Amino acid sequence: MEDVKHEFRNFVQIVRQLLVTLDKHFLESQAVIGKIANRCGQMEDAVDGLNIAESPNLGLMANPTGLEIRNDAGGDGHYGASRKKIINSKTIRYAHPGEDRVCKPGQEVAAVIGGIIPRIARPYLNKDFSGLLIVGKSGKVKMFYLEPFPELIGKHVEQGQVIGIAQDISKKYPDVIPHIHTQILEWNPGSLII
Ligand SMILES: [Zn+2]
Repeated sequence: MEDVKHEFRNFVQIVRQLLVTLDKHFLESQAVIGKIANRCGQMEDAVDGLNIAESPNLGLMANPTGLEIRNDAGGDGHYGASRKKIINSKTIRYAHPGEDRVCKPGQEVAAVIGGIIPRIARPYLNKDFSGLLIVGKSGKVKMFYLEPFPELIGKHVEQGQVIGIAQDISKKYPDVIPHIHTQILEWNPGSLII
């Protein structure tokens, strides 16, 4: 948790420095700058709130691999990190809709939340890689790039329970470190209240 706080504070620091630069050069972006600065304040408040969040069962996601968030040539694995792809020679920008935790292919992968696993999920049309869906009180997530244990499909799992074995997504995307992608589909705000 200390790592998370540290990363969070560093991130906010970088954004603040960026704002100073923007402020110098783009006076017309005041409205946007104001919004981002406001968001930074909210994020800092959220980090302070993490002290309480260190107690279990607060509805926060567990780390599925025990390793850090990905940051490599393929991008940054934080939730909301900036991504782009080129479609019909147009650059489309979007926010990373999940969190990527570095993994060692073949390692055990833990459930980020407790809940039912209704089915296997496939990240691609072919069956090269797999994952699963977890529906719990705290939310609904898809976890990708792991081989789920088939006997757990249709069953309830606890947060942190081993649910499968990590695959090697760097075989498909050579510029990324092997990782588990957790896509957050829904989150119940009530799960943050003790
Ligand atoms: Zn991802």
